[in-house]
Amino acid sequence: MDNRYAWMDEEWARLESMSQARQIRSVESILDERGAWIRIAGRDLLNLSSNNYLGLAQDPRLKEAATRAIEIWGAGAAASRLVHGSCALYAQLEHRLAEWKQRESALVFANGYVANTGVISALVGRGDAVFSDRLNHASIVDGIVLSRAEHYRYRHGDSEHLEHLLKKHGDARRKVIVTDTIFSMDGDTAPLVELVNLRDQYGALLMVDEAHAGGVLGERGEGLCHELGLQDEVDVIMGTFSKAFGSYGAYICADRSVIRYLTSKARSLIYSTALPPSVIASVHAALTIVQEDTGRRAGLRQKAGWFRERLRMRGFAVGEGDAPIIPVMIGDNERALHYSRKLEERGVAAVAIRPPTVPAGTARIRLTVTATHTEDELEWAAVQLCAIRDERGEGRSR
Ligand code: PMP
Repeated sequence: MDNRYAWMDEEWARLESMSQARQIRSVESILDERGAWIRIAGRDLLNLSSNNYLGLAQDPRLKEAATRAIEIWGAGAAASRLVHGSCALYAQLEHRLAEWKQRESALVFANGYVANTGVISALVGRGDAVFSDRLNHASIVDGIVLSRAEHYRYRHGDSEHLEHLLKKHGDARRKVIVTDTIFSMDGDTAPLVELVNLRDQYGALLMVDEAHAGGVLGERGEGLCHELGLQDEVDVIMGTFSKAFGSYGAYICADRSVIRYLTSKARSLIYSTALPPSVIASVHAALTIVQEDTGRRAGLRQKAGWFRERLRMRGFAVGEGDAPIIPVMIGDNERALHYSRKLEERGVAAVAIRPPTVPAGTARIRLTVTATHTEDELEWAAVQLCAIRDERGEGRSR
């Protein structure tokens, strides 16, 4: 009998041979109230792979808010937002988000992936052009593909290259420049001032993805736009609740015209069920902490900077910036996988990030610091990395 799935097996084997096959690992339990330690395959691991930057995913205030909302509103929203699935908690949250971001309006989406795909495909279509940083998140890339607009990728963080492309394709009907603010796999930041200038000069719209900067940068955790005083300059600010907020979901903040338009045009908003009220309630609790707990945010930045420096001192190539995302550059896929497996054997959960998530030849161990990690834990993880490098007989990479 012929095997209808043979082509899938072949493709999987090809990925496996390039160390690019992926596997979902089950977290058996979360071992402490900080969420810093998890158990996988019977092993207790220091978790350096979550985006739980402020340590809020286990926070009792979020859990309590979610539990209370379930009591009041039930387990699910039962309909899309436009079909009465939008409980009062949504409107309250959108009001608070707009106030926080100092923008006219906000709109909550189910998650960051569908916010990006829904918004981009609503903003542009055939005959339009999107200018996108080469290292932007996959959800931005997929939004552009879905939109059917022309996709021009500029070199990472390179505004001169962006300008060259804007000039070259100046005849497009509508133009959108889009960028992550903190890049998810590198932890560096976009040159926003220059992007705003180019937006003005070439009559484009500017959209930014603050997924990793929300809660982390800015006086009240607003993100990079606020940190640079550009909150009024960016046309569409997108962010998520799945990282520093410790919950789930995403939002767009923009002028009223933009939000009104997106509410009627973003298909991922229109044709998908609203998030459960418990999720929205936990985001309310998280937003209060994000806005008020400046000490936690300062501690995170201090710790992330300190850890990056400790790794750099030991000769690891760890990229620039002070974000809690620290890429330990390895290069080869197989070698990155080896480091990740050995780290796990030694008690550290840190994943190997490989192509196509990152460009070929730039596989890495992506370490993420959270506000609840202790310096002793981070130092211990650095020692484990060094021990693996020594076992392999490798020298310093910088
Ligand atoms: N944008 C960026 C920059 C991200 O890193 C991610 C998540 N990894 C997303 C969007 C998607 O967000 P979500 O996980 O909420 O779908």
